[in-house]
Amino acid sequence: MAKATNVPYNNTIDLSKTLIRCPFAKCNTRLIKPKSNETFNVSVNGLDFLQAVKPSNISTKESSSDHVSSLEDEQSEPSNNPGSFIKVSDVWDFDNIGVSKEFPDDITISNGVNVERLIICSDCERGPLGFACFESSETGAAVKDVKDLQYYLCLSSVMVECTD
Ligand SMILES: [Zn+2]
Repeated sequence: MAKATNVPYNNTIDLSKTLIRCPFAKCNTRLIKPKSNETFNVSVNGLDFLQAVKPSNISTKESSSDHVSSLEDEQSEPSNNPGSFIKVSDVWDFDNIGVSKEFPDDITISNGVNVERLIICSDCERGPLGFACFESSETGAAVKDVKDLQYYLCLSSVMVECTD
């Protein structure tokens, strides 16, 4: 049996063979077992999701102190880069997730859809790990029933445990 290890997501990982967990080691709550390896690239303007791995946490083994690169330069990259998300149509598919109250700000994702809720770890309440929105239906009906919310979990906000 393989030793369970939490790693940051990268696109070589088959998500259908993973568990997704809260990135905080002290929490490590199981958030969801993805049903498929399908991911969605979504850019969200004006919203920063939790980063499971911060660039500044990556240290080289050689600690030559006379070469200190500017962290501010590394952090100046735009925060609205498209991120990889998994889409979850039913909140009950999550094992543990917290959903915020209705999100008042006018924040939209790349296709113009409004962000309605933010999602967080239900155990340690850290996040946001993603968001929820209403996707326009075929009929175009402006029905905003909470059970129609689509949930997007940001893969750079979580750790994945490969189970296979
Ligand atoms: Zn947590």
